[in-house]
Amino acid sequence: MRYLSTRGHAARPQFCDILLEGLAPDGGLYLPEFYPQVSDATLTKWRGLSYAELAFELLSLYIDDIPAADLKAICDKTYTEEVFGTKEIVPLRPLGDGLYLEALSNGPTLAFKDMAMQLLGNLFEYELARRGEELNILGATSGDTGSAAEYAMRGKKGVRVFMTSPDGRMSPFQQAQMFSLQDDNIHNIAITGVFDDCQDIVKAVSNDLTFKRQYKIGTVNSINWARLMAQVVYYFAGYFQATKTNAEKVSFTVPSGNFGNVCAGHVARSMGLPIDKLVVATNENDVLDEFFRTGVYRVRGSADTHETSSPSMDISKASNFERFVFDLLGRDGGKTRSLFHDQLASQGSFDLSADPAFAQAVSRYGFASGKSIHADRLATIRDTYQRFGTMIDTHTADGVKVAREQLTPGVPMIVLETALPIKFAATIQEALGQPPSRPARFEGIEALPKRVKVMPADAELIKRYIAENVH
Ligand SMILES: *Cc1c(COP(=O)(O)O)cnc(C)c1O
Repeated sequence: MRYLSTRGHAARPQFCDILLEGLAPDGGLYLPEFYPQVSDATLTKWRGLSYAELAFELLSLYIDDIPAADLKAICDKTYTEEVFGTKEIVPLRPLGDGLYLEALSNGPTLAFKDMAMQLLGNLFEYELARRGEELNILGATSGDTGSAAEYAMRGKKGVRVFMTSPDGRMSPFQQAQMFSLQDDNIHNIAITGVFDDCQDIVKAVSNDLTFKRQYKIGTVNSINWARLMAQVVYYFAGYFQATKTNAEKVSFTVPSGNFGNVCAGHVARSMGLPIDKLVVATNENDVLDEFFRTGVYRVRGSADTHETSSPSMDISKASNFERFVFDLLGRDGGKTRSLFHDQLASQGSFDLSADPAFAQAVSRYGFASGKSIHADRLATIRDTYQRFGTMIDTHTADGVKVAREQLTPGVPMIVLETALPIKFAATIQEALGQPPSRPARFEGIEALPKRVKVMPADAELIKRYIAENVH
């Protein structure tokens, strides 16, 4: 398998080259040259597999520069009951009316990002050892991404993590999760500023090419193809649990921010998995819902980006969306480039409403969308708890609310559970008048010693800190 850029660059790298790279050289995102098709016979064969075996079969279609036995070992070591809590790894729970919750949040940091990041950690360690190289991951987080990255990379050879976060602005639980890590290769940097300051620092350091090369600076953000590919696996696993035969279809509703999670659903559907609808659920930051309703993609300014009670979906633009638009436009790299590079930069938006391709987002690709606001979240959390005894987190609640509006009789609707409620305790308390339950292994983590360096929002000081801690 070779990979291409959504903006038409001529290079065709293999998997391991794009694994350690972020963007393509022309600023585009990588996609496989084609989506391998999964036949009826293959689906039948895959039905009986364990999650790790399924991951191996699927990944093998996209990775041909790692020997099969090594890739198998990586999958086996990643997707274990010990790490993800159950033998099924992503079990389904019914919530009435043909609606199911797919549990993706029982990994080390209690959010779905572990599903991909745990694999990424093992792939990085493998590939860096093979090349005799090292990598220093520099990131900015307001919560879930940073902790998932740290738990995936802790103790891994050849990798260090320097994770910036806005000082005092993450939930106490999220701070405790990250700052209690004592591994030598994990560095928490609390910036006295807001999340945008953290992102600016990452940008400034990455734009210093001399420094970047000398200190082997890399990222783990959601545009990495390996993360997206790992997420494709749980769409198949969810489908197999909700159906008995390959003649049945299911729909998925996905709480969405950067469009990474639901883009994996688009890949699964493009491979031939019998998915009816892919429903994009947004919060008040409804960039994506607006696009699927109107054909207009309008990036928001920071004044226009709301701070909500489902904060991991508080985005101003959806960084993975370019992948879907590239497919929607018949994989026209020139056209994608002109939309994302030229029009977004000059006008902050583009409009596909008059393009015949736009209608295909629904008719050919199965997309639908909806929006949920704070009052919806509270009502949905309450309703789900009262009727089913199940506590859901605020992001998952956005999904359940929108999913109930999109039900088709006879078609199971699977909502992806993107985090556990304990991560967003204040809103659960507001909705239910009681705190969320806490998995036993997280009892008392707020009291553990914290390892964090507080620093001002100054890229030069961060560079110096990295240089001092790379040895
Ligand atoms: C990251 C995240 C999302 C959004 O996922 P995208 O891939 O960015 O669409 C939703 N919910 C939670 C809890 C998250 O951590």
